[in-house]
Amino acid sequence: MIKATTKLLCILGHPIKHSKSPLMHNKMLEILGIDSVYTAFDVEPSKVEDAVKGMKALGITGGNVTIPHKETVMPFLDEITEEAKNIGAVNTIFVKEGKYIGDNTDGRGFIISLMQDGGFDPKGKKALILGAGGAAKAIVTKLAMENICCIGIFDIDQSKSQELVNHAKKLNSTVNATNLKKEEIEQTATQADLIINCTPIGMKETDPELLNKKVFNQTQVVFDLIYNPSETKLLQDAKNAGAKIINGLGMLVYQGALSFERWTGEKPDTNIMMKAITE
Ligand code: NAP
Repeated sequence: MIKATTKLLCILGHPIKHSKSPLMHNKMLEILGIDSVYTAFDVEPSKVEDAVKGMKALGITGGNVTIPHKETVMPFLDEITEEAKNIGAVNTIFVKEGKYIGDNTDGRGFIISLMQDGGFDPKGKKALILGAGGAAKAIVTKLAMENICCIGIFDIDQSKSQELVNHAKKLNSTVNATNLKKEEIEQTATQADLIINCTPIGMKETDPELLNKKVFNQTQVVFDLIYNPSETKLLQDAKNAGAKIINGLGMLVYQGALSFERWTGEKPDTNIMMKAITE
């Protein structure tokens, strides 16, 4: 029950009504008997500064930040963790000694899903990354820190993929990072141990094919950040070729669990969180 003592956690995004975060966090808050509720705020891009000021004024105890505010929120926070600085984006806000601190749990959420659910250790491996937006940046940062050998990145906006290539090389000079042209994708995909879709392509049934099905084989792990549908065309083709497939649900839950721990100091049960968003 909401009482006068109940604290507030929230997610800031635009649009936000599709977000599954309130479902998983409220379920865990209830189970652990924590006197907090988690709600979603639809914040127009021009209102991000006001939203952070509002969080501070109302004593909101933490939250998440999602598209399109992950980068623009940064100047309005009191501190940014090393990890969020490296990624260049914030997906979690927590409060410590009255300071509103920006963190990023997307990359760690991804790595837990890849290593734990997929049984894949990126060290010394070759990866193809499709898309070079916010999520790709968190993922490439983590893969570079885990000493992946080679990363080929393709984005329709070649300046974005070039920027991400430069970012990977700066983080770890031993990583062989390449900005791929469209005609180089297929060959890189065929040779990759790991293929990751960091674009929104595959959410709609009418979306074009991202990769020709002939590039997949049974030694590969194919990771799609999309979780709705649970099996995109990309994952279906990869599965049919015998590749191991992972969708974005695990990443969503693990990044959420890491945020939850930041706010409450308690380790949530990720199985319960997963159930809360899939039922
Ligand atoms: P974003 O910042 O918009 O990045 C997507 C990038 O992909 C953009 O640079 C986009 O270019 C590019 N792109 C679009 N179509 C492409 C294509 N056919 N080939 C290559 N690049 C293409 O979005 P994001 O925040 O990184 O998110 C990407 C996806 O991951 C979304 O589906 C999101 O829902 C999902 N995601 C999942 C999780 C999770 O926990 N599972 C977490 C974060 C994100 P343009 O901007 O020019 O279109």
